Amino acid sequence: MAIQYPDLPYAKDALAPIISANTLDFHYGKHHRAYVDNANKLIAGTEFEDVSLEAIIKKTVGDAAKVGIFNNTAQVWNHSFYWQCLKPDGGGIPTGAIGTKIMAAWGSYDKFVEELKTAGTTQFGSGWAWLVLDNGQLKIVKTANADTPIAHGLKPLLTLDVWEHAYYLDYQNRRPDYLAAVIDKLVNWDFVNSCLT
Ligand code: MN
Repeated sequence: MAIQYPDLPYAKDALAPIISANTLDFHYGKHHRAYVDNANKLIAGTEFEDVSLEAIIKKTVGDAAKVGIFNNTAQVWNHSFYWQCLKPDGGGIPTGAIGTKIMAAWGSYDKFVEELKTAGTTQFGSGWAWLVLDNGQLKIVKTANADTPIAHGLKPLLTLDVWEHAYYLDYQNRRPDYLAAVIDKLVNWDFVNSCLT
């Protein structure tokens, strides 16, 4: 059971100008594909060859001897999830059940956005900012490098990639501008709502 390289859920130019086709050419076309290819090479002929992606991640987290498998499989999962968190003409005030839960947890959309942006901007070096469910409670967390909430018993609802490859071609060093634009214009709240159930 090979690890899958999923199709993008939209055209490569669909997120422009917030995220350009050029960025998606590299980010989806090169980086994500490389994680898939590396993961498949690393699990070939091992005990993980016929194990699901999520199970491989949970079985290899924290194992120094399997850090290559963990990093590549976790990055496959994180990227496949990230693409689904975005859509053209998305973003802004959340609708549906997640909107109600965010208002209950943070009191206002602006407070929620502030905390999410802070998580993304204060992640030192490469990583991810997340909205997760922790025992039914909404939380914002950040993870370094390939690390992923699914390895730690948390349920991801939304993620923002803050590796430089996610924004450097469009925003150079302005990570806060990338985060603000994606949250305002691209978040797929329908997908986030679907993750709640
Ligand atoms: Mn990435």
